[in-house]
Amino acid sequence: MSEERAAYTNSTQKWLSVDPAQIRLSERLKNQLGWKEWVIDVAVRAEFRCEYCDKNLIASVDSYREWQHDHIIPKRVRSENQDDIDNLALSCRLCNVNFKGKWDPGHDLPDGASREELIQAVRKYVANKRTRTMKEVVRVRDAVFGD
Ligand SMILES: [Zn+2]
Repeated sequence: MSEERAAYTNSTQKWLSVDPAQIRLSERLKNQLGWKEWVIDVAVRAEFRCEYCDKNLIASVDSYREWQHDHIIPKRVRSENQDDIDNLALSCRLCNVNFKGKWDPGHDLPDGASREELIQAVRKYVANKRTRTMKEVVRVRDAVFGD
């Protein structure tokens, strides 16, 4: 086993369920869809939802086409261990590209912050961006429908 593979295996042991139903789900995704192991691990861990806004990414064609994988700590900041599954989050395109972008959630947190703490920081950041965008939508609606 290569060093990379060993690190990946150790990393996934932090979250992988021993729930037989989840193990069967992972097997189906591998056998029926041919998904790569890391894609399965990220998707199953997130329960197929954007980890930043909870959008169900298998609910519709539109949401499915938003399926992306975000580097929680951006690649430019964390050049090492880019493929560490703990630094990957299932994300919709809107959260990944439009709202989070290259923002680094580790910037305002102490070194060694947990994955959960980083995810919570991104969720808050994305929610603030969403609120600001909603204010813009309301202004546009007022202009369109106002008299
Ligand atoms: Zn999202």
